[in-house]
Order: sequence, then C-alpha cells, then structure tokens
Amino acid sequence: SASFCLSLLLLLFFLSVSLFVDRFLYAMRLHDDQLRDISARFQAEMKKGLSAESNAAATLKMLPTHVCSTPDGSENGEFLAVDLGGSKFKVLQVKVRKEAGRVRRSVEMQEQTYPLPKELLIGRGVELFDHVSECLKDFLLQKKISLEKKHPLGFTFSFPCQQTALNQGLLLNWSKNYWARGLQGKDMVNTLRQAISRGMDVDVLALVNDTVGTMMTCGFDDQHCEVGLIIGTGTNACYMEELRHIDLVEGDEGRMCVNTEWGAFGDDGALDDYLTEFDRDIDAASINPGKQCLEKMVSGLYLGELVRLVVLKMTKLGLLFDGRVTDALRTKGKITTAHVAAMEQYKDGLKNTRDILLDLSLNPSPDDCIAVQHVCTVVSFRSSNLVAAGLAAILTRIRQNRKLKTLRITVGVDGTVYKTHPQYAKRLHKVVRRLVPDCHVRFVLSESGSSKGAAMVTAVAQRVTARRHQ
Ligand code: BGC
Ligand code: MG
Repeated sequence: SASFCLSLLLLLFFLSVSLFVDRFLYAMRLHDDQLRDISARFQAEMKKGLSAESNAAATLKMLPTHVCSTPDGSENGEFLAVDLGGSKFKVLQVKVRKEAGRVRRSVEMQEQTYPLPKELLIGRGVELFDHVSECLKDFLLQKKISLEKKHPLGFTFSFPCQQTALNQGLLLNWSKNYWARGLQGKDMVNTLRQAISRGMDVDVLALVNDTVGTMMTCGFDDQHCEVGLIIGTGTNACYMEELRHIDLVEGDEGRMCVNTEWGAFGDDGALDDYLTEFDRDIDAASINPGKQCLEKMVSGLYLGELVRLVVLKMTKLGLLFDGRVTDALRTKGKITTAHVAAMEQYKDGLKNTRDILLDLSLNPSPDDCIAVQHVCTVVSFRSSNLVAAGLAAILTRIRQNRKLKTLRITVGVDGTVYKTHPQYAKRLHKVVRRLVPDCHVRFVLSESGSSKGAAMVTAVAQRVTARRHQ
C-alpha cells in the first residue's frame, strides 16, 4: 500500500542519513575488540597505580580512601553532610536509625541545594570555603538545627585527594570546571574546619569522594555493592581492593576502597590512537589542558560541546544546513549535555532536535535533524562504551583477586548523565554484560548517594573515635 511504501522510504532515508554520519564519525564508534583493548590497558594502569614503585608515573592514581568496609548495619545517629564538586552544591542532614527489633534501618534526609557562583570556582580558595561555611550556617538556621550541640559532619569532596586517614586529604589537583587558587596540596578537612565560623560546633570527621559515598549508600541496602560509579559533570569509579595489593597502605588483611580517579586515564597518551580532532579541541579549550583525558571523552561537562564541535565541522564542510554556520553554533557551550539528552529522547527526540537547532538560528531540514540526532547518539554511545571498558577492567580485577570463576557484584551509580540521558544506562549495562560475561552485575541507582554515603562513613568514623576516647 501507499503508506507502507512511504514508511519504507522514510526508513531508507533515515538509514542513509545515519550511515553518512557513521562514516564521518567512524573514529568515535568503538567496537568490542577496541573496547577489550582499552579495558586491558586500563587493567595494566590500575596495577601500575597500586604499586609503590610505579604509582608516581601512573595516570590512575588508585587513591586509598581509608574506608575499609561497606556498611555493616551498626551505623546510627544524626549527621551533617556537605557535598561539593558535583552538579549541585548541597548541605544535608542525614538521620540513620535502626528500627527496634528490625534488621532494616531507615534513613531520613533533609537537603538544601545552594547556588555556587562561577567566580567562586575559579577564584580564591578561601572564598570558596567561606561560602561553603556560610551555607552550612544558613542550613542549620533554616532547619532549626540546634547550634548548641556538636554535629559530626561528613564532607563529600569530588576531587582527587591523597588520604592518610579518613579525616585528612591533600588536594592533588582540581578537575571539571574548578580551579580555585591556593588549595592544591592543602588538607581539605583542615581547610573546611578553618572556614567554619565560630558559633557552629561542627566536627569534620570524614572526607569522602563522591564515588565512595555512592558505593556506601548502595551498600547500605545491598551487601554485594563493592563498586561506586559516577557519570555526571565528571566521571570516576571506586571499588574494594585487597589491602595486600595496596602498597601505599600498611597491612595485608582485608580490603580497602580505592578511588581510581579514572578520569585521568589517557593523560600519558594511552588513548591517543582513539582520540579524534574533536577531543583534541575540547582539551585545548579546557581549563586543564593535558589533564583528565578519559573524563573529557565521557562526562557531562563535555558531551554537549563534543556534539557542537562535530556539528560545526560538518556544517563547515557543507554536510549540514547547506553549509551555513551561525554565530550561535560557533559559540562554546551553546549545546549542553541536557540538549543531547533531549535530542535522544525516544518519542520527541527529532522534534526536540529541530527546536534546539532553531534556537541556534539554524534552519534545519528534516535530514539535518536526523543527522544531528545521530551525532548525539554516536557521541553519547562512545561515552557509555568507554565507561563500560573501565568498569569491565575493575570487575575483572575483582574477580581475579578473589579467584572466582564468576563474580556476583553490585555497582552503585550516580551522576546526571547516567540519571537523565534516556538511553545511557541501558546501553551501558548491555555493553558491560557483553564485555564481562563472567560477572553478574547488578546496577543500582543511588539517588543522592554521594552525600548519604558520606554520612554512613562518618557514622563509622564517629564510632571509632568514641571507642578511642573510652
Ligand atoms: C574527580 C573525581 C570525581 C569525579 C566525579 C572527577 O573530575 O576528579 O574525584 O569522583 O569527577 O564527580
Ligand atoms: Mg598493603
């Protein structure tokens, strides 16, 4: 019938446009052999980071977190948490209760998001922390939390820190869009303590990376959760490693959570043969050129910009919009990761794509829309593929550590990209299962995980401190 012919024609049309984008972006379309290759490089780099001799030269810093167990059920009490470095700056109060006569515990949270002006991210470090302290004070007043009592606090700080204890951590370097002056090499717990003004009796007990917080939150409900993963503004993962493999920490018994800081993978050139001209342009225009190579291919701070650079290039070559470039399309940041998610929406994706392109003063034809939507798919798919390769390396390492044929494990995940992109999670799960068929992986979304988990870690820290003072 006529309508059948029409759908067939449309489908062919769709396919041919997609194919021509695929051909243009072939270097971004990673197949499983390439992902296995990346995963193997990743595993080698993890080893390098764990060993004392090679750690300095390793891109994966494999930072000891001094978190030695996932939640064990004895967490109890009221805690404050500050969460800095994710897509939102938050202050929280977390109440962990064990219900009488029940195995299950309950967690109650109140949280408040505070604006964080851009100038603060790249200004003086002291001012950034003064702002944090003011927001904390505001939170206590708003929520009518007593200023008389002493409040234990967990600090989720989503940047690489070298920790010799749970309540100490030197900032190694900034990442994402942070570049506050005067804090590199400084202890972030002390910095926060000093900033917290008088009149507040707050005890900063733990410094926790967001990946660790996420793993702990998830571990509260699931004993098998031994990996924490963030795919948000930045990206990173942590996992439980055997202490005997962690050269930088004494002791051979048991396990400790290691923060891989995998965003830096490739900083030594390990990914060079997978980089495209667009990746090099992103890096050159960033505030940390030469740093966070994998992060720039994966995370939310860059996905939109990658799409924009690809679309700009295709337009300049006359492949889109009849070759007509607009000022908006030339402007950094005009396509965001939220746009990418909207353009890949199941039902409204094409319509959204058209609206977004019109907003950039472009005049898209139907095939321009299909092509740009497909660019989004290629870029976001590459991101989830790379995360899958990293995760496969970690899972394989855990399985081998434990000499298991098959590993049953849960991964706690958080981050705006994972949570808000319509197809990201599904694609990631599928590729991971294909890359490591010998690992039975459960993915659990850990809502507000990074801050809730900081409270769990603080609970344990408080118990240990209390015991020491007895
Ligand atoms: C930071 C990590 C963090 C990740 C996710 C990266 O830029 O270096 O410490 O876990 O972003 O927020
Ligand atoms: Mg050791």
